[in-house]
Amino acid sequence: MPYVPRPTTHQPCAHCGQTFESRNLRRKYCSNSCNVLASYDRTGRRGEPRPTKADLESVVKKIMELTTAKAKPSLAEAKLRSQELAKQIGDDLAAAKAERLAEAKIKMKELGKKMKEDDLAAAKGEHLVKAAKRPQKP
Ligand SMILES: [Zn+2]
Repeated sequence: MPYVPRPTTHQPCAHCGQTFESRNLRRKYCSNSCNVLASYDRTGRRGEPRPTKADLESVVKKIMELTTAKAKPSLAEAKLRSQELAKQIGDDLAAAKAERLAEAKIKMKELGKKMKEDDLAAAKGEHLVKAAKRPQKP
């Protein structure tokens, strides 16, 4: 069977509409660029500029600034808060100490009073006992 080349067709491009010659019957677009642009149209990626290196660097810089700016105040805040907490705890401790000291003082006073009274009573009792034991002159 002798070689018979396929007949060339003249059909319009599916993207730009220009007629183009082709021996491939399934070919839809006149060129590769029309194929790519048509695919962009289908997937909706047309017109998105690729980010340049400078864009990426600026984005990274922004992120770094944001994170550092966020981290610094939070650290300072944490320090302040811990200091405040420590102060509060110190105040509470001091107040508790003072309260306990006052209580202890009152208790000591009461104890001293009681001891004095006890001593007095004991001394009186001893005195009475001694007086009772003291031999009386005939
Ligand atoms: Zn085309």
